[in-house]
Amino acid sequence: MKFIFFTGGVVSSLGKGLTAASLGTLLEHRGLRVILQKFDPYLNVDPGTMSPFQHGEVYVLDDGAETDLDLGHYERFTSGKLSQLNNLTSGQVYRDVLDKERRGDYLGKTVQVIPHITDEIKTRIRTVAEKSGADVIITEIGGTVGDIEGLPFLEAMRQFMHEAGRENVLFVHVTLVPYIKAAGELKTKPTQQSVAKLREIGIQPSVVVCRTEFPLEQDVREKIALFTNIPVNAVIEARDVKNTIYELPVMLHRENFDELVCRELGFETKDPDLTQWKNFVDRVVNPTNKVRIAVVGKYIELQDAYKSVYEALTHAGAACDCEVQQVRVDAEELEREDPARLLGDVQGILIPGGFGDRGVEGKVIAARYAREKGIPYLGLCLGMQIATIEFARHACGLEGANSTEFGDNSPHPVICLMEEQEGVTALGASMRLGTWEAKVQEGSLAHRLYGSSLISERHRHRYEFNNKYRAQLEGAGFIISATSPDGSLVEIIEVKGHPFYIASQFHPEFLSKPNHPHPLFQGFINAALNRQKR
Ligand code: GLN
Repeated sequence: MKFIFFTGGVVSSLGKGLTAASLGTLLEHRGLRVILQKFDPYLNVDPGTMSPFQHGEVYVLDDGAETDLDLGHYERFTSGKLSQLNNLTSGQVYRDVLDKERRGDYLGKTVQVIPHITDEIKTRIRTVAEKSGADVIITEIGGTVGDIEGLPFLEAMRQFMHEAGRENVLFVHVTLVPYIKAAGELKTKPTQQSVAKLREIGIQPSVVVCRTEFPLEQDVREKIALFTNIPVNAVIEARDVKNTIYELPVMLHRENFDELVCRELGFETKDPDLTQWKNFVDRVVNPTNKVRIAVVGKYIELQDAYKSVYEALTHAGAACDCEVQQVRVDAEELEREDPARLLGDVQGILIPGGFGDRGVEGKVIAARYAREKGIPYLGLCLGMQIATIEFARHACGLEGANSTEFGDNSPHPVICLMEEQEGVTALGASMRLGTWEAKVQEGSLAHRLYGSSLISERHRHRYEFNNKYRAQLEGAGFIISATSPDGSLVEIIEVKGHPFYIASQFHPEFLSKPNHPHPLFQGFINAALNRQKR
């Protein structure tokens, strides 16, 4: 088994996760079994309690792990199914070490960063290696080389290389080569210095991937090679992609990145056949049609808050030969503005997940607009709860209907806390999480889209549809088209007589892949396209 470690230099937001994921794509296309994972140096046990302002989306795995959004890229770019083992944080490492210390496992010893913390990190790599049965494990270390908090991870990687053998371990350093306008030049110094910083702690990268806005000319490559102590063909250009992140594997392949990695690690494989991947990219870049989809949320100004939702829209668009133009609508603005001004020219309205009451009334306005005007609607998690509240208030006459998440005094709590959540006070990893099965009603829109009566989807929520209102809402044209297998939890809702109105208590966006769009998203884009063509 071989191990590749990705480090980052100079600045954050370099696309290190995407670069690692892209290498995963290329190696998988060469026939290798690949597993990706991420080590995050922060002290949170997982990102589940962090605000999207801090961290972007929280990505949820089958086993219910709440993880860094890079794991979303890993799952979209490769076929490997990930688990909670694949996202390690300093918080987890320290928690486990301190638990052991209290149990007396280290009795008599002083517990220290080296060896106890570093040992714990190395053990995790070995556990993942054993469980995965992969040919190669790609590990991305979060943060930037030079960060104090990243040091234990880098030291653990250095030791790991020493123990596993140099021929089995490869370090890839992703760095920035900035362009200085006044000088009209690309500058290599930051890269030289960040590699020097790595060498100081005993790590010599074998490959340097250079994020750049302009082509790396031969002289620049040679300079980087000389000062970072690598052959010039191990300097890889990663220019900003023009249209879509899915171009990145193709670009890196052109730079012979995957060939180089295989040679360094002694893998003999076939050349990758990227035809299908390139076809997908082509459909994203050169679509025939176009639809405008409003995404109504409270974090729309953040690029990363609804990452998987945006990706799922792209996948579905590609499948429908259609560009999906995202119109990001601030829910709070809808509370002040005429909805026709913000939503008048879209062919679909999507409300993603969310927590807390800010922007909720704006979302209710958007859901009502979609329902009354016959605009295709897709609601995800909170988006289903909003649709329920809206329907109860305006189609059922239940004035003041609300979710108990937004106040205890609603006369009609149509969304309420799940029974199992009643006594829960801790906020970390305490929701209904991960993959659960649901049964789908035959004859429903959901059944048509899935083509199946049994589905499995990923969840992350605390509140649910209040069954006391079931009959009343159904009487007014509300359709409950999927529930948990025992019938107790509502999983999908629809509205009778509407061209396309569907919302799920789960998060379908986490299961969408480039060449396998999620059926709910694909149905939604198809419906939007039909509206467009009317
Ligand atoms: N806040 C809602 C709940 O906890 C919805 C969660 C979500 O959208 N992920 O049930």
